[in-house]
Parts: sequence; C-alpha cells; structure tokens
Amino acid sequence: MAATPHISARWRIPLLAVTLTAVVVTGMIYVVTTSTRTYTVHLPLVNASMTARVEATEAHLALDELATGRYGKDTEAELWARLASAEWHLRAMRDGASGSSRDDGHAHDNDYEAGWNYIPLDDRELDTNLGLALRRLDTLRTNLATDLPDIIRSGLGPGANQAIEGQFHAYMISVDRMDERLHTMLADQFRATNRTQGMLIAGTTLLGLIAALLLFRFDTERERATQRARANDRQLINVVLNGIGEGVVAFDMRGQITTMNRAAQSYMCAEHPEDDRKFVTDLCMGPCGGGRLDPADLLSRIHAAGGPVGLEEVRIQCKHSEPRYLAVIVSPLRDETGALSGGVISIRDVTESKRMEQALLASEARHEQAQRIAGLGHWDWNITTGTLMWSNEIYSILGLDPVETAPDYELFTQMIHPDDRAMVQEAVRAAVEDGAPYHAEHRVVRPDGSVRTVLEQGEASVDRVTGLPVHMMGTTLDITERKELERKLEELAITDGLTGLFNRRHFDIRLDEEFRRAVTYYDLPVSLLMIDVDHFKQLNDTHGHQAGDAWLKALADLLRRSVRTVDLVARYGGEEIAVILPQTPGKQAMIMAERIRKGAERLRVEWNGTQVHTTVSIGLADPRELELPACEMLLEAADRALYQAKQTGRNQVVRAHSQQIPENRKKTNTRWISDPV
Ligand code: GH3
Ligand code: MG
Ligand code: MG
Repeated sequence: MAATPHISARWRIPLLAVTLTAVVVTGMIYVVTTSTRTYTVHLPLVNASMTARVEATEAHLALDELATGRYGKDTEAELWARLASAEWHLRAMRDGASGSSRDDGHAHDNDYEAGWNYIPLDDRELDTNLGLALRRLDTLRTNLATDLPDIIRSGLGPGANQAIEGQFHAYMISVDRMDERLHTMLADQFRATNRTQGMLIAGTTLLGLIAALLLFRFDTERERATQRARANDRQLINVVLNGIGEGVVAFDMRGQITTMNRAAQSYMCAEHPEDDRKFVTDLCMGPCGGGRLDPADLLSRIHAAGGPVGLEEVRIQCKHSEPRYLAVIVSPLRDETGALSGGVISIRDVTESKRMEQALLASEARHEQAQRIAGLGHWDWNITTGTLMWSNEIYSILGLDPVETAPDYELFTQMIHPDDRAMVQEAVRAAVEDGAPYHAEHRVVRPDGSVRTVLEQGEASVDRVTGLPVHMMGTTLDITERKELERKLEELAITDGLTGLFNRRHFDIRLDEEFRRAVTYYDLPVSLLMIDVDHFKQLNDTHGHQAGDAWLKALADLLRRSVRTVDLVARYGGEEIAVILPQTPGKQAMIMAERIRKGAERLRVEWNGTQVHTTVSIGLADPRELELPACEMLLEAADRALYQAKQTGRNQVVRAHSQQIPENRKKTNTRWISDPV
C-alpha cells in the first residue's frame, strides 16, 4: 500500500498562506513592472507626440495673429519657440532624451514632461511618421523663415502663404498618424497587460484552488487513513482482548463499563445476565454472596498508589464447576493530560499456578524433610561472586542458626577440624582448579564444641567461554552416627564378646604383623605369653558355667590393667589368653608374666555367696633368643612352655627354651634357656 501523503494540521494553514502569498506577490511584481513600463515608455511618447501637435497648432495661431497684424515681435518669437519645441519633442521621441536636459532657450512654465525618459520604440510605422513629421517641420521652418516677413506684411493669402498653410497641414497629418500609431500601440499594450493580469489572477486562483484541493485531499486521505487505522486498532484490540485468557474490564470515572472481554464475562457465573453488566457495581465474580466491586473505592486506591493495585485473591465457584482462584489487578487509565480517566480491572485465573505452588510447597517440604531425615544438606557456591548458599540442613549439621549466620566459606573453613583442614582445602582446590570430583570426609567442630563427621561431595562447573571455574555445588552428609556404627562394628569384628578382649582372628593378624616388624625386619625384642586357666572345668563344675564366665571376665580386666597400651591381649580360645609384648625381651616378659600370675592367684569373684578363685599357667616365648624363623613357631614355643607349666604343677610361668624346639626347626645351634620360675 502506497504511503498516504501526510501534512500535519498545524502546517496546513501556514503552507496555504505561503503558497498564496508567493503567487500574489509574483503577480503584483509583474503588474507593477508592466504598468511602470507603460507609464515610463509609452505615456512620455504620447505626451511628446501630443506636444509636437499642440506646439504646431500654437505656432499656426501665432502665425495667424502675425498675419492679421494684431500682435508684435513677441508673437513672432513665440512662433519660433513653438516650432522649436515641436521639433525638440519629435527628435526626443526619435533619438531618446531626457526632458530635464531640454535646452531650447524657451521658458517651459508648463513643463510636465520634465524628468521623463523618452525611450524610442522600435516600430517602423512610428519611425516613418516621425521621420516624415520631422522633415515636414524642417521644410515648414525653412519656408516660414523665408516667407514670414511677407506674411507679416501682406497677411496670409494665395501664393507662398498658401504653401505654408499646406506644410502646416502636412506636418499635422504626419504627427496625427504617429499619434494614432502610438495610441494603437498603447491600446495593444494595455490589452496585453490586462490579458496577462487576467491570466495571472486566473492562474493565482487556480493555483490556490489546486493547493486547497491538494490539502483537502491529503487531509481527507489522512482522515480516512486515521479512521481505517482506528477501526483496525479497535478490531485488533477486540481480537486480542477476546483471545487472551486474562479477563479485562475497562471503566470510566463514573464506574460505567466501556470494554469487557469474553474472558471477563466467563468469570461471572451464568446467573448474572451480560446485559445487566453496565457498571462496575453490576459485576460480581462467581456467586454474588460477597461484596461487589466499588468503582469509587478502586479509583481512589489506584489514585493513591499512583499505579496498579492488586486486590485480594478471589475464590469463585459457579454451579456444576470446580472452584477457581482469580488474581485481580486494577490499573489506572489516564487522559492526554495524565489525569485519571478511569481504570482497568485485569482478572487472571491462577487456579493452576496455585495448585502447582501448593504442590511445589508440599514437594519442597517433603524434600526438606527427606534431607533432614537423611542428614543431607546441599550447598551452592558461586565462585565468581563468592556467594554461598546453605540449605537448612547444612545449618543444622554445623550447629549454626540460619537467622544469625550468613553462609560463609571462611567460616566453614574455620569450623573444619584442624587435623582435616588441609585435606579439605586440597580437595576443594583440586575440584576448582583441576576439575576433579569433590569428595572429602572430614570432621567439623560445632560452636558448642561437639564434633560431627561429614561426607562432602560435589563438582565444579566452568565457564564455556573462558574455561574458568565459576560455580560449584554439592552435598554435605552427616555421617557421624554411621561412622560411630562402623567403628563399633569394626570393634565388634575384632573383639571377643564375653571378655571384651581382642578375638583370635585379630590376634593372629597382629601377631603376624608384630613378628614381621620386630623379628623379620628390624631385629627388635618381642615376647608372647600364652595363659591357660588352671582346672577351669572343675570351676565350672563346682560353681556353674556363669561363675566361670564371671571369673574369666575378671581375669580379662586384670590383664587389661596389667599390660601397657602397646601390648595386645586376646582371647585365644576357651579359657586361653595370649598376650603380645612388643619391645620386650624374654627376661622382662618373665617379670610381667609373673605379675599376671600372681594377680590371677589373688583374683576373687563373688558368686552366689562364695568366693570363686583359681590360678593360671603361663608359657612364655622370645623369638629372638629362640632364633625362630616363623611366627607359627613362636606360638608353638609358647604353647610348649605352657604345656610344660601345666605338666610341672600349674600356677607357674615357663619360659620356652631351645630344647623344647625340635632340632630340625631351629634356626641355629644356639643353646636354649629353660628358666622356669
Ligand atoms: P587344665 O587346663 O588345668 O589342665 O584344666 P582344665 O579344666 O582347664 O582343662 P581344659 O583346659 O582341658 O578345659 C577347658 C575348660 O574350660 C572346658 C570348658 O568347660 C571350660 N571353658 C572353656 N571356655 C569357657 C567359657 O567361655 N566359659 C566357661 N565358663 N567355661 C569355659
Ligand atoms: Mg585349656
Ligand atoms: Mg585349663
């Protein structure tokens, strides 16, 4: 579609005025110049022509008076002056001259031609008559100079005098013709001027009309375009308004409804006929049990707020339909001056988002609860800005108050157990700088001094463009209880249930380790004690199995008290107990064994009113002095020594000696010491 020429309304009048003024001024300049030309060129010539005639007539009168003898010398002078004047004018007409420069020696009382410019016209007929008139005047003056004395004397009569008459007449004729030609030319000129002026006026009028028509046309087209645009706008607004899900109701300052779209109608239950909804007060969303909208109140609220105002959420339930939730916003409408001219009520169905919000809240609550139960917190760290987010569970794990404490990496670092801090910082560095998965099991010390063990896992993400780490997120799991459980399980796995001593399995492992460390690698002293309760079967039989158990536990306690922390006491089986004594040669071990034996001898356990007691036999072996090459041989040696202790009376310590070791199993020929106490 071609663009419609558009002239703004405020420019239309000035433009028309400028156009018309330009046309009128051009016309006037033309009229003035043509009139001036006529005035300055033709009128002086006409005047000169007339003067040339008048002067000849006056000269003829003067001649007549001279002929009749009524006047004297002055009249004769006048005659010549008149003729000279006539000639001057004719010459001026032919050659062009200024009237002011006329110098013919004659007084010009009535010198109206002075100051006029005689501009010769390039016209053959005029020139012919002008030339003829000049020649005839010349002839007349020549003849008159000859004949005048005769005429004065005898008056005008036949002969020469008659010839003068004829010359006057001939001169007059040529001047008349010239005058006539001038008048004809003047008339033509005026006619031409009039025609031009008429055409100018007609042209001006036409131009004005065209300008007015064009302006009118532009204006009309613009008006039509505006109307079309308005109609399109209205249609567009209607289509848009009826197409959107949001209800829209516009109203003026009196509360009268000016626009209401389909969606808005749908929010009114069917019991309210559409035709009745002329004013805002006629509107009621859902059944009209509650209050209706008050336009004055709405207008005063948006006026006070200076912008849109949200109303309370409305719950509607029409017959046979599910309840719906509506969010209502009232916005101000303003006129060109910015003054409030009405309002627009926007009604949005928020049922779905409300349901989703509720579902989300429930989901978040479940998520939160799950995290709380699992002791799992999550954190989100913006590496670029340094912003850190902690979930509620993180606060709970760290024993911090979320209201009083803001998430802070430095604070967290300070809370890490000093022994674990370097390890955690290295794990963070590796995750951030090397892109390694973040995994750190460490302890944190809470403000109240309690220590929790946490497992942290996370990963850092990098900026796609710069490749620099920008973000890191992860989880913190409180594994304190699990760790404790693990510790207990580990303990249980290596502990004997009845006595609380290490079990046989653990003993085997530790003995093997100690043997390697001390004997195989470093040649350090170590000793092994094998303890067996004497006549334990008999004790059981006498006091009962439980009494036996009690005595066995008491023995375990005694042993725990008797040994050093580096020593290891284990229940080897039944009522047999083994003790590993690192850094202890056989001689020193004998002293410790004897102390244990004596302690057991003194041990009394109260059971059902009786004192339960017995003794122990101990076999001792030092692998270095026996030069034993293998761990199991150490056990064997201690066992043999124990056997010997049993055989030789019980309640005693026997130190293994070389004779007890079969020759083929000895490392060297070194003499074995048998040193029973
Ligand atoms: P001795 O060693 O002096 O030769 O005599 P003993 O009676 O102790 O003989 P032996 O070592 O052969 O018997 C071990 C007895 O220890 C058998 C069993 O009744 C008892 N016994 C083993 N383990 C337990 C236990 O855990 N509790 C109780 N009450 N008795 C146990
Ligand atoms: Mg036994
Ligand atoms: Mg025994």
